[in-house]
Amino acid sequence: MTSKLQIISLPVLSDNYIHLIHDPDSGDTAVVDPAEAQPVLACLKTQGWSLKFILNTHHHYDHIDGNSVLQRETGCQLYANGADKHRIPGINYLLTENATFNLGQHPIQVISTPGHTSGHIVFYFPDDALLFCGDTLFGMGCGRLFEGSAEQLWQSLQKLKTLPRNTQMYCAHEYTLANGRFAMTVEPSNQALQHRMMQVKQLRENQQATVPSSLADELATNPFLREDSPAIQAQLGLIGEDPVVIFARVRSLKDQFK
Ligand code: ZN
Ligand code: FE
Repeated sequence: MTSKLQIISLPVLSDNYIHLIHDPDSGDTAVVDPAEAQPVLACLKTQGWSLKFILNTHHHYDHIDGNSVLQRETGCQLYANGADKHRIPGINYLLTENATFNLGQHPIQVISTPGHTSGHIVFYFPDDALLFCGDTLFGMGCGRLFEGSAEQLWQSLQKLKTLPRNTQMYCAHEYTLANGRFAMTVEPSNQALQHRMMQVKQLRENQQATVPSSLADELATNPFLREDSPAIQAQLGLIGEDPVVIFARVRSLKDQFK
């Protein structure tokens, strides 16, 4: 029997989360997307944990800026997409699609999810039903298209949709409330969405995190996973359209939403 992983999510910068993952059996700890080093070092000290490795989902500064100090201070190893080695300094393990490795006895799978950036990857823990999805999927939202086409990000999201519905989605930003306000304009009649908005407002009023969410929650409320919703299709005047066309329209409407 393996013990449950312990996860601590640190709010940093204006709206980022850094997730620490600790395996009580092996004593190993990983950190996902350390935007800053100091909060991670402080947390490790408080918990009495030592850092084994860093996982980077993509090269943006708000995901990697803490890497070098953490490597220097803790001697940890850096795992990131080998295709991004020109823009993520100091990678020790050059990852590729479907690469697998372990935190203690807990397997980790790399899923390639281009769209927000060309080299974006996410980390799936199949035995623990956890997904660390960076800026690919957010609570009721998805990443902006900085380096990919709508079709590419749509394809990436299709991979995530096939994971077990109880998978806990740990994204890298607290954007859920703003995303939900937009979602309400696309699918105002969605009762699961209305219900989730009430929960999310309550959490934010109490300064609590809305991350993680379950994949089931996202499938029910996230307009970027719901091109097949008749209500969304009707709202956008795209009944029976190609899912990629609908997804692209939702993405561009979100880009313009204030
Ligand atoms: Zn990003
Ligand atoms: Fe980001």
